[in-house]
Amino acid sequence: QTLAPIRAIAELPSNLADQIAAGEVVERPASVIKELLENALDSGADQIEIRLQEGGNHVIEVVDNGRGIAKDELLLAVSRHATSKIYSMQELVAVRSLGFRGEALASISSVSDFTLRSRTVHDSSAWQVSAHGDGIWHGPEPAAGAFGTSVKVNNLFFNTPARKKFLRAPRTEFIQIEQLVKRIILSHPEVGFKLLHNAKMVRNLPACTDEKSLQLRLQTLLGQEFVEHSLQIEFAVQDWHLSGWLGLPTFNRAQTDMQYLFVNGRVVKDRQLSFALKQAYADVLYHGRHAAYVLFLQVPPEQLDVNVHPAKHEVRFAHSRDVYDFLRRSVRDAVAKPLAASESLQPG
Ligand code: ADP
Ligand code: MG
Repeated sequence: QTLAPIRAIAELPSNLADQIAAGEVVERPASVIKELLENALDSGADQIEIRLQEGGNHVIEVVDNGRGIAKDELLLAVSRHATSKIYSMQELVAVRSLGFRGEALASISSVSDFTLRSRTVHDSSAWQVSAHGDGIWHGPEPAAGAFGTSVKVNNLFFNTPARKKFLRAPRTEFIQIEQLVKRIILSHPEVGFKLLHNAKMVRNLPACTDEKSLQLRLQTLLGQEFVEHSLQIEFAVQDWHLSGWLGLPTFNRAQTDMQYLFVNGRVVKDRQLSFALKQAYADVLYHGRHAAYVLFLQVPPEQLDVNVHPAKHEVRFAHSRDVYDFLRRSVRDAVAKPLAASESLQPG
């Protein structure tokens, strides 16, 4: 038996460790934007602008008007496992912010040309730190900038060729981004969003201030037909709250492309929740047709585990069966009623 020579064990250089870890959260431009938008939302911003070049492959910039980061904390913000959102397990189990892992900025900055610029109410100018994918940080240095934070990510994956190979054409990446941005815009009506692609304004949605502007946002994102063929609902049982719009059975789709479900303001992709909704519509839809809906489920944060997956797509509930039942029953009752009403109007 011939064994390969023994190789000494060595700790990975920290930048390489960051690049490896980056694979967990940063898959493509859309996942970078998701993290940056979550940070902007967590900062309390009510205006967020996303500027892209070449489907995000070349430039991704997210600018917010939130509370900002103090100059002394800029370098901490970009280091791994550093967060202002939780300090303890008690805080983790009741987390309300979208972020909490303290990894996004460290990951993204390890695989791009990266600049973080911020200005709090205490600063007379903005300050910025930057790095070029080698783990060497420059700054903080003063910069021009309004209150809030801007993160600029240039040349994503330029230093990780294996990853870069999987970047698709700008058009393809942009389609992914548009879908993600749409979800996030739907999930936060109180925030105004702008999306610019190659210096062209693609979306410009002012913050919703009343029912009318909310309807307008819905119409812009999902179309007039959905607005006309949906009912607005609101249910509460115990501490659980469900609100939003349910597409009427007459407005059904060949695909699941108009199903939006947000749990505590998070964009989630959860099979069990989707399944509960599918069951709720089962009696009123033809086989193979899919419902359209925009739903906001709100549960006490301590009943929700969001720490299931690094990208935070999946969630777990403390009383999952009851939550699924609540969802299924509320939606089933709501969509059955208008159908019963319209049937009773049919002659014969
Ligand atoms: P997490 O969001 O999980 O805390 P991140 O790496 O995304 O981790 O961000 C690290 C920290 O940097 C955050 O906890 C927050 O304090 C700060 N931060 C990041 N982005 C922003 C922003 N847009 N506005 C204000 N603070 C920010
Ligand atoms: Mg974050």
